[in-house]
Amino acid sequence: MDVLGLGGGSAATPDPVGELICSAKGCRAEAAWGLLWNNPRLHTPERRKVWLACDDHREHLEQFLSARSFWKQTVPVAELDRQESA
Ligand SMILES: [Zn+2]
Repeated sequence: MDVLGLGGGSAATPDPVGELICSAKGCRAEAAWGLLWNNPRLHTPERRKVWLACDDHREHLEQFLSARSFWKQTVPVAELDRQESA
């Protein structure tokens, strides 16, 4: 009997916002930047997709998106939540 109700609780796994990991292939670094982009063939103009990037990969990913005319804006990850919920 579990009279006190203390058994098997799952409340001890804090996961505040989820991990923000760089989107570059094979990179497990913490992301510092959010790259906002849009593919006009797939997305409506106001839609924003987000890639996360560490300091090392920010430029690489920006160039990748810019080359396809997808890149819109790069913002610090701290500002991402506001951007996405806006
Ligand atoms: Zn990276």
